Amino acid sequence: MGLRPRLIIAFLSIIILPVVTIFGALSFFSYQLEQIEEEQNNEIESVLKEINKTVLESYDVITDTTQFYKEIKPVLQPYNLEVIVSSQEESVLFQSTDIVQNNSNSMFTMRHSQVQTLDGEILNIEIKSNSLDLSSELSYNKIITVIVISFSSGLVVLILLIVGWTLYISKTILNPLKQIYIATEEMREGNLNYNIGYNKRDEIGRFIKGFNTMRDHLKQSIAKQQLYEKNRKELIATISHDLRTPLQSIKGYVEGINDGIVQNEEMKKRYLHVILSKTNQLNRLIDDLFEFSKIDLDQLVMEKQLVSSDECFTNILQDAEVDLKQKQVQLVVKRPIPDVVINIDPKRMEQVFTNLLDNAIRYGASEIEITFAVNVHKMTLEIYIIDNGDGIAEEDTERIFEHFYRGEKSRSRDHGGTGLGLAIVKSIIKAHEGEVWAESKIGQGSKFVIVIPVKLEVTYIYTGSKPD
Ligand code: ADP
Repeated sequence: MGLRPRLIIAFLSIIILPVVTIFGALSFFSYQLEQIEEEQNNEIESVLKEINKTVLESYDVITDTTQFYKEIKPVLQPYNLEVIVSSQEESVLFQSTDIVQNNSNSMFTMRHSQVQTLDGEILNIEIKSNSLDLSSELSYNKIITVIVISFSSGLVVLILLIVGWTLYISKTILNPLKQIYIATEEMREGNLNYNIGYNKRDEIGRFIKGFNTMRDHLKQSIAKQQLYEKNRKELIATISHDLRTPLQSIKGYVEGINDGIVQNEEMKKRYLHVILSKTNQLNRLIDDLFEFSKIDLDQLVMEKQLVSSDECFTNILQDAEVDLKQKQVQLVVKRPIPDVVINIDPKRMEQVFTNLLDNAIRYGASEIEITFAVNVHKMTLEIYIIDNGDGIAEEDTERIFEHFYRGEKSRSRDHGGTGLGLAIVKSIIKAHEGEVWAESKIGQGSKFVIVIPVKLEVTYIYTGSKPD
């Protein structure tokens, strides 16, 4: 139940339940009073009947006051009654106080009655009492008592409700608030693992859920930041190492040529080849760093234009072919390449494929085979680059697109990488409103998939010869 209904119920119950208790108690005790009154009336009636009966039965001895009192005493005594029997002419025939003096001075006439003897004489009987009847004063006291008891019960219920609701609200509202306070203190101290154990789906539950989500996000972003920092530091170490190693080797080979160690043309060619390859390595590293700094500063400029996909990919593959042949890489192009209009920056797109093909070669098998295929699916173009290389651990397939992230194997073996190539690929594809991902398993090669939007539907499918 939500917080608001709980509070409404609390307030309503605090108002309604004591009132109900008061009215309940009033009606209960009034009913009890009525019952008692009825019982007393019945008792009085039966006592009066008994007195009348005794007066009639003992009328013969009424002149013998002692004897008459003896007869009537069992009825009078238990109720502390007085009786006066007088004739119709109002001459007193018997008066109990003549025999026994009553100590009580608050006697009052309770009842007058008349009986007729067998002789036809009418006798007046007056009965006095100080207790049997309900005097108005007595009733008033009882009513006051009933009202006091009823209001006291209401008050007790009110106090119990206030205490009960206070305990309940403090348990369900104040305790979780205290927990949140502790959690914020813990967070301030740097502990992001403090868990608030509250599973109810009320307002506080939703707030705590939001709080926990915020804390998890913070935790993730701190972990990401730490990883980023760690990778950045590793990169500085890698860059200094990667710059120094080829530079030292270039320096060594140049010194060799300079010192005249190179004796023949073939040796010179070998030296120059090594120098060129090391210079290329340096060049790539510096290019990657330059691109990355532009991405990092959000300065990656796109010069998009509408181009034919077939033309674009054919050009890219043609340019790459020479290099691939030199490296004895077998390139399999699945034809026909669908021809649709795409809005891309051709130079950047070439950079994407250069990076992907370069990776496929660097992490490739001894006999490298790269498959290139393109598909049109609705209004998107899907491009596949599949290699038969080392493959990527499944848990790494997402992370390899992070800046500076390098697979475990690549770090241990010198592939001359920076961990920036795929991050650059992802940024470029993202700038084309597209997506890129890897599907791979260790030892089973890798498949890189790029999806970019198509601007105009297929104009024609290239089947070897273009239609007029
Ligand atoms: P690097 O400069 O390390 O190659 P990339 O961003 O290009 O950086 O690649 C990140 C990581 O992804 C590499 O270190 C490597 O572990 C893995 N990787 C990328 N392409 C491939 C591939 N074709 N085959 C196997 N592993 C790859």
